[in-house]
Amino acid sequence: MAERRKFKKRYCKYCEMKVDYIDYKDLNLLKFSLSERFKIMPRRLTGNCKRHQELVTVAIKRARQTALIPYIVDRKNVVENPFEFVK
Ligand SMILES: [Zn+2]
Repeated sequence: MAERRKFKKRYCKYCEMKVDYIDYKDLNLLKFSLSERFKIMPRRLTGNCKRHQELVTVAIKRARQTALIPYIVDRKNVVENPFEFVK
């Protein structure tokens, strides 16, 4: 008998929100797939579908190039909420 894994039921937030295109300027969308240190969360943690994970990866890389999100976050800065500026 297959044992049930620990993680919650998988669902893709982007599918739920019916997002067709993820804009790199839309940090509110990107933050679902970013860790608190602005790393891209792996799909096994976010539960995103493959299509949206690819879209979001491209968008995050683009956002980094345009300096919308940092490549590296210092330890000091992690204390604060990194998404404060998004609101
Ligand atoms: Zn999806």
